[in-house]
Amino acid sequence: MKKIFLLIISITSAATVATAQDKPSVFTCRIGEAEVSLLSEGQAGADISILIGATPEMLARYAPDSVIPNAVNAFLIRLPDKTIVVDAGFGLRLEDNLRQCGVRPEDVDVVLLTHMHGDHILGMMQKEEERIAFPRATVYLSKDEHDYWTSDEEMNRQPADRHSAFWNARRVITSYAHRVILFHTQETGKSATPLLPGIYGLAAYGHTPGHTMYLLESDGERLLIWGDLTHAMAVQMPHPEVAVVYDANPEQAVRARQATLDYVAEQGIPIAGMHIAWPGIGKVFRHGNGYFFAPQLDTAGIVGAVSRQLQRYPESRLTDIYKNFFQDYFGPGHLIKDTASVDRYLQQELASCGKCTGQWTESTGGEGRFYRVDLCVLKENRMDYRTFLNAFIESANYTVTPPPEAWIDTWNEIIRILDTMPLSIPDYAADKAALQSLLQSGHYAVHHSKAYEQRYKPHYRIISKALLERLITLP
Ligand SMILES: [Zn+2]
Repeated sequence: MKKIFLLIISITSAATVATAQDKPSVFTCRIGEAEVSLLSEGQAGADISILIGATPEMLARYAPDSVIPNAVNAFLIRLPDKTIVVDAGFGLRLEDNLRQCGVRPEDVDVVLLTHMHGDHILGMMQKEEERIAFPRATVYLSKDEHDYWTSDEEMNRQPADRHSAFWNARRVITSYAHRVILFHTQETGKSATPLLPGIYGLAAYGHTPGHTMYLLESDGERLLIWGDLTHAMAVQMPHPEVAVVYDANPEQAVRARQATLDYVAEQGIPIAGMHIAWPGIGKVFRHGNGYFFAPQLDTAGIVGAVSRQLQRYPESRLTDIYKNFFQDYFGPGHLIKDTASVDRYLQQELASCGKCTGQWTESTGGEGRFYRVDLCVLKENRMDYRTFLNAFIESANYTVTPPPEAWIDTWNEIIRILDTMPLSIPDYAADKAALQSLLQSGHYAVHHSKAYEQRYKPHYRIISKALLERLITLP
């Protein structure tokens, strides 16, 4: 059993990053003619102490472990005639990741920098030697960002322990010297002049004085790589008004975040971020007074999960596949207000559930964010009843239920992948249509199919993987 190690990191230049062993470090998707890859420098958790303006209620709801999923990412954009890197991370795995994509440092034509913090620019230099990492690249940097880091006045305004960040930035600027192109950022949503064909540099000042987002446009599709617009998606999506201690100007950073979220949700533009946990790319939807983030699906993960499910449960119908993915994305999918009835219902089901097969837990869907925990763990006294009940309630209450549009979008993408698979599932077309009309009516919860119920008699609850692994040693 793999354990999840949540290491607390600080995402300043001095930080170390823990790399999870169970994730690959490159994720690729297509935007028009462009191939965009996330190059992961590491997946880790950030401590809630980085947040400014988060209330205890927000933390209890959105960061119950006091740790927020986080990452350090760079991105690669491959266009038919150009190879572009967006930010260079710490440089921990950058070269390896590029090599996995078949790209050598000398193949990189352009580097776009969002800003000059260490976790975005240290990869611009080769480790031991003082040589530039991308010998042929032209570097794009906003003039406002450049002017800030090269100003002695600004540096001297900061305490001495922050001066190294200025020297790091200056080292990159002087090392790349005449290859650095300074530009004036443009306003999001206004008609803009591209920096390069299909690439726009947009102002999102606040995190740093010249913090820049890059909008990619290719063949009618778009992607906004928003740099450090967020550092704590779990909290800053529902509450964009929460800032972080790394923001140079927290109020300005909040305004930039709110305006950008509004824009991408309105326009349906997918986004990518440097501190968004794997896969670092997805879509933003309006949700209540805040926003909801639906991560980009991993095709291989979907195909693998469906194949596993059909192998194990050959009687599965499309509804059962739907249920598995729904549970994986959104957990139990509902808030629990009435604990007593949950208790009663669980006791009833426990009394009626049949013999145990020895299979206690099973990961959900493509990402395995949750476990289906068989009620056998209670029948066979593998787990204390109260612990189980509380874990289930906690999992339900700390899971954010998606806005319907987000789940419809995700499900349509799953169906698109399923349609390409050689599946022979009875009633596939009819179930597909039935699910479509269910979603159109604003509902999304389904029961297992009759065939599945009869054959497998499922008795389980959905419990967060991280939570369960902390509570018990799984058999
Ligand atoms: Zn950063």
